[in-house]
Amino acid sequence: MFNLDNLLRENIKRLVPYSSARDEFKGEASIYLDANENSFGSPLPVAYNRYPDPMQWKLKYKLAEIKGVPPQNIFLGNGSDEAIDVLYRAFCNPGVDNVILCPPTYGMYEVSANINDVVIRKVSLTPDFQLDFPPLQQAIDEHTKMIFICSPNNPTGNSIHREDIEMLLNNFDGIVVIDEAYINFARQKTFIQELTEYPNLVVLQTLSKAWGLAALRVGMAFASEEIINVINKVKPPYNINQAAQELALQALDNISSVNEWIREIVIERDKLAAGFAQLPQVVKVYPSDANFILVKTTDAKGIYNQLVEQGIIVRDRSKVELCAGCLRITVGTPTENIELLSAMQQLVLS
Ligand SMILES: *Cc1c(COP(=O)(O)O)cnc(C)c1O
Repeated sequence: MFNLDNLLRENIKRLVPYSSARDEFKGEASIYLDANENSFGSPLPVAYNRYPDPMQWKLKYKLAEIKGVPPQNIFLGNGSDEAIDVLYRAFCNPGVDNVILCPPTYGMYEVSANINDVVIRKVSLTPDFQLDFPPLQQAIDEHTKMIFICSPNNPTGNSIHREDIEMLLNNFDGIVVIDEAYINFARQKTFIQELTEYPNLVVLQTLSKAWGLAALRVGMAFASEEIINVINKVKPPYNINQAAQELALQALDNISSVNEWIREIVIERDKLAAGFAQLPQVVKVYPSDANFILVKTTDAKGIYNQLVEQGIIVRDRSKVELCAGCLRITVGTPTENIELLSAMQQLVLS
């Protein structure tokens, strides 16, 4: 049986969160002398002298509309990387608890575990980059607090079978974190509509990829109100700055141009995949549900270096488990993709 109280660290259960001036007085007043701000103003045209809303309600209400998830089920982080870190700090006792990671996958799950001194149990994906079931179940013990599933997965690009994720959600009494950073490019649908179904579900999304706002650092976690309340206690009080909150709000009004880019990126992705498949140095083009393609080549390092000389930077993933010979290539604009393909056609074979 899933029981949030059993999963939480004792110190977090007992934690009295920092209470900011903005927490203690809500509502409107004419004179604010409670936060030691500079009452004279800010040296910028905008009133940045005031602390931002620690709970980012305006932005959450807007996201709630777009995502179809109530605002109380949304946590905002300084990138989804902060959400990952806050989850570790809320649930995992350093040196005692463990999490399960399924490599090859996003590197921050491991780095964040190491920073928090959390034991990592790795259960590699199968050769077709899906969850490997008997080993996955065997890896779970009474100290397993979380399992991270990245779908679509970085760096492989594929979605993880929905039924396999549902299997975990139904049978694992810890937290199942589904990282949907690339969900906007996927054929598979999001899990954020299933929050009422699964008390152990946390879905991560971000404004950094499809939304084109990597520099603003806004990531989202969707979960039960109970989980959201806990991670809100653990987060730094003003973790999303005022400029990022305002710009994100503005950006969310531009959903139609973002949707148009997503359509174009998907078209370009499929063109690129077809182009890669024609190249003699390409051994395999992995199917992608993301805005990048994993390509197995005869000589990843050599191709990488020759592309760098042409001013084109891709990601060499050949040292990563199950990815020998692989480059991860982000989909560019149509012109960039044509340049990339033509550079690859002119590679000197080693
Ligand atoms: C890029 C990426 C993120 C994004 O992190 P932000 O901190 O929100 O920029 C999260 N997860 C995966 C799998 C990613 O590839």
